[in-house]
Amino acid sequence: QAPKQQKQPLHLVFFPFLTRSHMIPMLETARIAAERGVRVTLVTTPANAHLVHPTVDHTNSRPASPHQPHMDLRLIPYPSAEFGLPNGCENFATLPDPGLVPNFYAALFSLRGALDNLLRDLRPVDALVSDAIHVWTTALATEHGIPRLIFQVTGLFPLCVENDTYLHQPYESVSSRSEPFSIPGFPHPVKLTRATMSEAFNSLYMLGLLRESELNSYGVIVNSFYALEPDYAEHYYKVAPRKVFLVGPVELAGAHLTVAEKKEERTATGRDASLRWLDDREEDSVVYVSFGTLCEFSEEQLRELALGLEASGHPFVWVLRVEGEKWMPEGYEERIAGRGLVVRGWAPQAEILAHRAVGGFVIHCGWNSVMEGVCAGVALATWPRRFEQFETEKLLVDVLKIATPVWEGFKSVVDEEKVLVPAEAVAKAVKWLVGGGEEVAAMRRRVRELAEMGRQAVAEGGSSYEDVSRLIEGLMLCREG
Ligand code: UDP
Repeated sequence: QAPKQQKQPLHLVFFPFLTRSHMIPMLETARIAAERGVRVTLVTTPANAHLVHPTVDHTNSRPASPHQPHMDLRLIPYPSAEFGLPNGCENFATLPDPGLVPNFYAALFSLRGALDNLLRDLRPVDALVSDAIHVWTTALATEHGIPRLIFQVTGLFPLCVENDTYLHQPYESVSSRSEPFSIPGFPHPVKLTRATMSEAFNSLYMLGLLRESELNSYGVIVNSFYALEPDYAEHYYKVAPRKVFLVGPVELAGAHLTVAEKKEERTATGRDASLRWLDDREEDSVVYVSFGTLCEFSEEQLRELALGLEASGHPFVWVLRVEGEKWMPEGYEERIAGRGLVVRGWAPQAEILAHRAVGGFVIHCGWNSVMEGVCAGVALATWPRRFEQFETEKLLVDVLKIATPVWEGFKSVVDEEKVLVPAEAVAKAVKWLVGGGEEVAAMRRRVRELAEMGRQAVAEGGSSYEDVSRLIEGLMLCREG
């Protein structure tokens, strides 16, 4: 009898969109796959290599733990100059001017040939996992005879909003940008407005392309978990044209490390100054304030925010991702010294949120931040700015009831589009978040229950763990024809 042949492990190629907040959840997902025995190849462009390198912890920019699974990295050139972009401008967050966005996308679409050659070179490949934005990769995967999996970087709630709004166009019935409308057949009667709809609706053409690529793909991977959004998981299962895999919270992918392994990791890599600063604070006494990787504020708004944090009287960590300080109130940093920490550049956000001293988060409602905030069990004050962030705010405030809008009681963006959130609103939100009230304590308890459900979802036998198993088994079947 011939010996039974050992099956080759699955080989998945991961191709994230060229910006950090899209890379983070996809890389964590790749890591989960690698830990489950999948051969992983990560693909990006040279200027992004340091963000995608398998030996970097992408969330916290610190060297990887010695317990990293192996992943390969392959680079494809990015034709910046050919498309009128500055040399080395290969990341969406580094675009010097919003007018260059179309150039950036044109250059991105031109990567088809390079990815085609790479897929040929990497054979055998079992599937291509690529960001939803890379709509053209569905056809490319089909040419290679392999499935494409769409990687979504938002939650299920905004996906359902966008899907149903695109299909039913309920906003056609309203006469102004601020008049609310609801979506027929939606699990909750949430109110939306045109003013706060995702920017994707500015381009029905792009939404059409996204829809078409979804129809022709194998399935969709989402960094969420069933127990967080059960009504929207059920709804999405009904409306999504393909298979759905909920694999989150991917931020907890390393949660299976033993305490000893974690300690070893900490000692090996050192701790960031912001974490040491937090060590001296009381439990749940500090507010963390951050607006993601792409947020821009006017100088006037930055000033109000600074004054509001100061006026709150509570400790805070504020991540400031702007250049120049003309707007900063005079003597500000001296006045807040000891109570407020302004972090310039990249903060280890997931770790800061998980620190016992942090009890509240002023959040812009970017999905990664939502998952990190929920997993850390902190109360949330929402301040959405763009993209699908207003939709996600509805999930947090109206559906899950784990957040309050920063401008609660003040003029909101729904009343007035170019709203300035005044210092009083910021101070009030911070006092509410960490001031010790009963309402916020109840919210924090709810978030902690969700965090526990998240941990169970990614643990062996949990819903997200099983979705990863279903994905691996499904792709194995595809390979066997
Ligand atoms: N992030 C971080 N440090 C920073 C700024 C951002 O670690 O100083 C991480 C944050 O933890 C999250 C991601 O960057 O994982 C931001 O993604 P999100 O979806 O929240 O926002 P976006 O940047 O897409 O608006």
